[in-house]
Amino acid sequence: MPFSVKCIDCGHAAPFTPGSINCPRCNSQWREADYDFETAAKSLLSQISVRPFDLWRYRELLPVRNPNPTLSLGEGGTPLIRAVNLGMMLGNPNIYIKDERQGPTGSFKDRQAAVTIAALKEAGITEMVAASTGNVAIAYSAYAARAGIKLWAFVTSLVPAVKMREIALYGSQVVKVTASYDQAKQLAAEFARQRGLYLDTGARTITSIEAMKTIAFEISEQITAAIGPTTHGTPTRWRAPDWYIQAISGGMGPLGVYKGFRELRQMGLVDRIPALAPIQAEGCAPMVNAWKKGLEKAEPVTTPRTRIETLATGDPGRSYTLLRNQVLETNGDFESVTDEEAFRAMHVLAKMEGISAEPAAGVAFAGLFKLIRAGRIKADDVVVINCTGHTMPAEQAVLGDNWSRNVILPPKEETKPEDGLLAALTSVAPDRFQRVAIVDDSPESRRLIRRILQSQGDFHISEADNGQAGLTLIQKELPDLVILDLMMPDMDGFAVLDALKSNADTAQIPVIVASAKELTPEEKTRLEGQIQALMQKGDFLNDEFLQEVRSLLR
Ligand SMILES: *Cc1c(COP(=O)(O)O)cnc(C)c1O
Ligand SMILES: [Zn+2]
Repeated sequence: MPFSVKCIDCGHAAPFTPGSINCPRCNSQWREADYDFETAAKSLLSQISVRPFDLWRYRELLPVRNPNPTLSLGEGGTPLIRAVNLGMMLGNPNIYIKDERQGPTGSFKDRQAAVTIAALKEAGITEMVAASTGNVAIAYSAYAARAGIKLWAFVTSLVPAVKMREIALYGSQVVKVTASYDQAKQLAAEFARQRGLYLDTGARTITSIEAMKTIAFEISEQITAAIGPTTHGTPTRWRAPDWYIQAISGGMGPLGVYKGFRELRQMGLVDRIPALAPIQAEGCAPMVNAWKKGLEKAEPVTTPRTRIETLATGDPGRSYTLLRNQVLETNGDFESVTDEEAFRAMHVLAKMEGISAEPAAGVAFAGLFKLIRAGRIKADDVVVINCTGHTMPAEQAVLGDNWSRNVILPPKEETKPEDGLLAALTSVAPDRFQRVAIVDDSPESRRLIRRILQSQGDFHISEADNGQAGLTLIQKELPDLVILDLMMPDMDGFAVLDALKSNADTAQIPVIVASAKELTPEEKTRLEGQIQALMQKGDFLNDEFLQEVRSLLR
């Protein structure tokens, strides 16, 4: 389905490329995907009944041209669970829990990762940078592993060690930053800029907002199945709930969910956008504070004082202003709760509904309790709460000790911030990575080898998909190591080797042959003295392969 990205500041529409974030006309970074809703709605509604219940069922309204099923981990399609006991306790029979813990990595960041990684893969991007309070990096890591994309995950040292290890377990490079989340974001942005890498830009990321809107689509379908379509006013095919409640950090969730309901309304499927209720932890509540003071811009919280690190965005920037307008328009509310209230709500949720979620989700439920008690939410309102975040500890012994690189930033006052950032970055990674060229005609083989290399070390990896292109690449880049396939059409691996050895510039470059087939004795003789190692594909473990690579690069 064709779509464009439209600037929310000047209205300029441009084609979508994941790597370019600025409006070509006015340079604004705030743009959104725009579709031909009439055509999309027709196609969507005729197809939807035969599609599985995952987020790709709404593919007409997603910014990926050809969704690649091999990247999927079963994202989206989480259950909507009626909270019978909580409802009884609170005197509201229509409380529903959108159980986003049931995503592949246990949080709604799976949607963002699935759609963004699919778009990056489609655009040929193989390396990315993201700052995270934990769950974004976990979700990106899982999908990046499947897609053969290297992730540099900048996390603050407040993120629990189990979450950091989970990120590392997936093969991403954890960069542990001893500073606030906002500073970690700055550092990540500078790192990405210096190296020309794709950077996740939070709520400004088009693919992320688009991914989040599938929560709205699913809720509408599910709430319709539960209690029927809208029948008052102009009847519509689906229904929207009266409230959408979510714990927020940067606010991407509700921004995306709002857009989802707005599009459903535009297509005539629902009659309204639910009242939004974003909830923050009191110790880091810049949006709630600004809302209560009636401000259009949030005053940043420089030192968050909450143990709920998942929600530690101190400076929401323009996201607040956008979200504020949406909360005003939908007659919603911002609310904050203490850590203790959140922990208590978390316990209540587990005890009453059998749902164990991370403390951040407790914030949303504590917010629900508060809004009901204050009479903002009425007894017959239909309420959906986003319940997201469930962690599985990664076994420490599996990872050893070197899964994190640590950066300690000097306190802000002492130096110019840029000096601290630059100095800190040199400890993240060396300036020059060893260069490895992969020459192989099979994309799956290239992805496997790339993945093994990028998950466990710093390499600059280049690829060629045939012998001639490989030779040209090697002569141009003079890599430190070549990984060569033998069976390729036209110029095969033997011919590439001959050409390398007959040229003084390339004769000394070590070569590992990674072959998919068993070699004949004649072929083995032919390779003797020409290569440093022979590895049989499908028959080596990733650490054996990596050991071989390391020993040759020394
Ligand atoms: C990311 C996250 C949030 C906050 O989401 P935003 O919409 O980006 O503010 C809340 N809870 C959990 C568990 C999260 O992972
Ligand atoms: Zn513009």
